[in-house]
Amino acid sequence: MDLTAITTAAPARHTPITRNLMLVIGLLFVVGVLIALMALFSIAARLDAQDLSKTTFYTQRALENRITASKNYIASYANWTTAYDHLNDKVDVQWAYVDQNVGKTLFTIDHYDGVFVIDRQRTKYAIVRGLQVQGEATAYLSTSMASLIEEVQSQESLIEPVSRYTLFEGKPALLTAAAIVPNDERPAVDPKSTSVLIYVDQLNPEKLNTLSADYGLNDLSLTADDGIVPGQPAVALTGTGYSLVSRLERPGHQLLWSLLPPLGGALLILALLTAYFFRYVLRTSGHVDASYTSLDLSNQALEASEERFRAVAEAASDWIWEIDDQHCITYLSGRFSTVTGFSDQQWLGQNIGQLLNCDTTPLSLWLNKLDEEQAVSHLRCSYRDQSGQQRVCRVSARPIQRKGAVLGFRGTASDITDEVAAHAQIQHLSLHDALTGLPNRNKLARYLEDALALKEQSAALTLLMIDLDNFKPINDSLGHPAGDAVLLEVAIRLRECTRDIDLVARLGGDEFVLVLHGMDSHAEIDRFCERLLDSLHQPINYDHHTLHIGASIGIALSRRQGHLPEELIRCADIALYQAKSNGKKTWCYFAAHMNDQIQHRRQLESDLRQAIKNNEFVMHYQPRYHVDGKQIVSVEALLRWQHPVQGLLNPDAFIPLAEQTDLIVPLGRWVLREACETALTWPGAMMVSVNLSPVQFARSDVIEDVREALIQSRLPASRLELEITENVMLIDVDGALATMNALKELGVRLNMDDFGTGYSSLGYLRTYPFDGIKIDKRFIASMSNGSNDRAVVQAIINLGKAMGLTVTAEGVETLEQLDFLISDQCHEVQGFYLSRPVDKYALLPLLKASRDDFPPQGTHL
Ligand code: C2E
Ligand code: CA
Ligand code: CA
Repeated sequence: MDLTAITTAAPARHTPITRNLMLVIGLLFVVGVLIALMALFSIAARLDAQDLSKTTFYTQRALENRITASKNYIASYANWTTAYDHLNDKVDVQWAYVDQNVGKTLFTIDHYDGVFVIDRQRTKYAIVRGLQVQGEATAYLSTSMASLIEEVQSQESLIEPVSRYTLFEGKPALLTAAAIVPNDERPAVDPKSTSVLIYVDQLNPEKLNTLSADYGLNDLSLTADDGIVPGQPAVALTGTGYSLVSRLERPGHQLLWSLLPPLGGALLILALLTAYFFRYVLRTSGHVDASYTSLDLSNQALEASEERFRAVAEAASDWIWEIDDQHCITYLSGRFSTVTGFSDQQWLGQNIGQLLNCDTTPLSLWLNKLDEEQAVSHLRCSYRDQSGQQRVCRVSARPIQRKGAVLGFRGTASDITDEVAAHAQIQHLSLHDALTGLPNRNKLARYLEDALALKEQSAALTLLMIDLDNFKPINDSLGHPAGDAVLLEVAIRLRECTRDIDLVARLGGDEFVLVLHGMDSHAEIDRFCERLLDSLHQPINYDHHTLHIGASIGIALSRRQGHLPEELIRCADIALYQAKSNGKKTWCYFAAHMNDQIQHRRQLESDLRQAIKNNEFVMHYQPRYHVDGKQIVSVEALLRWQHPVQGLLNPDAFIPLAEQTDLIVPLGRWVLREACETALTWPGAMMVSVNLSPVQFARSDVIEDVREALIQSRLPASRLELEITENVMLIDVDGALATMNALKELGVRLNMDDFGTGYSSLGYLRTYPFDGIKIDKRFIASMSNGSNDRAVVQAIINLGKAMGLTVTAEGVETLEQLDFLISDQCHEVQGFYLSRPVDKYALLPLLKASRDDFPPQGTHL
């Protein structure tokens, strides 16, 4: 609590403000609830109205459909020559009733309760519930027969039936009637002379139930018109005094019933909680208001009510102090002992400057300044508490005046030790790497800014940018905990190799930066780098694994590359890039020409992106021969870039860049498609070999890419071979194995490319589903120069054969090499001596010549 702030605040206005605020909140709450309820009721009413109109509609529809069906049915009887012949004059009872042509089946099967044949004079034939009866139709029906006959006979088309609602034996029924007319080519009959056939369909409960079920209505029933409740879905059966009604679902009603009780409960709880909250707030505000008021009073009449002031002071959470004009402590509130551990007696009478210390401005100066300005002010001070612990507090003070003279000062001291510590912690986190605790990029930038602030006058700095080799495979294969362990160990070693004045920072991932002081000569820096790399090369033990990592270093010197931090970092980064391309595990100093290389690389990258859009790529093809050097067994597709300025570029000039930028993914897909489609134009079932980059395995769904290419081009999978270097297994051992097995399942062949250049090839060969190996051209090149490479080649050939693999020697440039390979019984050969890579047009004669010499046959061993 800040006493000085309190004493100047306006009192007593809090209560009405708080009350008004709560009134508004309460009002808002009630209005909100009312709006919600109104919305709910309106939704419910709408639902019910929809239900009413829907039910009425379907009741109507049910009746109409029943009438239509009946009309169609009666028409099939009335518009019938045989019926005309047997019913129109004298009714042939034998035909009609005994032979059941218009007889009791109309009741037993079709459920017509009454069937009548009448003419203008009388009822000629009557069946009631399947039994023939004598008598007039009017004895059963409420309808006037004369008007019915009149209506039937005056229909525009005589064959058109009419319908009515009627009472049959006093109960509502549907009546359909039609003139009995012949349906052959006789001359038209006189309408007035026709008899009329009447079918009566009494709406009994059984029929109404079926109707309800058919139309999804509830409990269709008949109700006398005067018994209908308003709002009931009723369809009047005009002329009968009855209506057809059904029960409503009343979804709105159901909604209300299901929602209102829980909603009511929730509202009640909410209201109770709000009421409780209001009471609490009122009470506390009353409390606060009360204390504010009393504090204000005590301030206004300080001299008069010293005691009251003390009471408030004791209750405050910060400690309150008073000093005289000599800055000697005259009063300390009870909180002082609690916070500092000292008793107030220890400090009363002592100068406050001895207790509190401020490192930016002496306390006494600050107080005197307050005196002049007559203002309230804050100062951050520190002190040691009774246990000797450093604590921080924010001190506020205000002069005590009487009749214009300053008698001393009074104020509060708020303990902010935790706040300061938390701030420092946040500060630390924002400047340090969470894993290793080393300074991060932000801290590095600040550090360099400070160290280089004096430009030329600054001490010489050496900036080393370090990137770990082989870190990603460890992280990928053994998981992040292993990666973290490696980074921690590296951090320790870097710290060990440097002095306290040097800075070791982690930029993220496996990139570190060292800033070294006072190393001037290259010789000195070289020695340091040697020692550093040596230390980093030492194996790291992690969970029974012995891990080996290396590092590459790029170096920038402030004396040469200037005093701008970003520039130094950029130069070291470029030098690091150079160090990596020089072959890892080395260091490299920045040199101006590297800038050009980077520039060149950037240009190439942008060209490459453009090239993919502009389709600037072509494939060249190099045949692979049976070791006799005549019969082609497969053709390797090799990518070329027709660069608009630099001409035809070989893959070495752009594949590495494509791999670094993800462009390898679209490029790889294009190569697969192009190679497969071209292979389809070749004579015979010649195989095509496509190179896959290890990066494709990591960045693209290779299985899907290959499948897609096969499906789109319709090339049989058995004609596609994929060449993969063992680097693919370095990136992700298990993932690569799974992918390769899946590729084999597509039916393609797999060849291990550049065999002998990677690590532990033998182990991989056993585990992975390769069909063949290609001995790297370096071994073939040095076969004939007397080195022991011939023995190596021989050993590889034997090993491959023992494993049932097809062995190819690539890079065969001379007859001598070919002869060696023939005598060593290598299976297949490829190289400039036999054929250079050529475009697809030049390839065709080669394929043809090979076919002419040898009829096609399965050549793989
Ligand atoms: P690679 O798979 O080892 O391909 C063989 C390389 O050796 C080809 O170089 C070929 O022209 C060259 N070569 C063939 N016979 C001889 C010879 O007798 N002597 C010598 N000195 N070289 C010979 P190219 O076409 O420049 O390809 C270089 C590398 O680029 C390939 O090495 C392959 O790893 C990669 N590459 C080529 N095309 C593609 C592709 O479509 N996708 C991917 N991912 N990589 C490709
Ligand atoms: Ca290859
Ligand atoms: Ca190769």
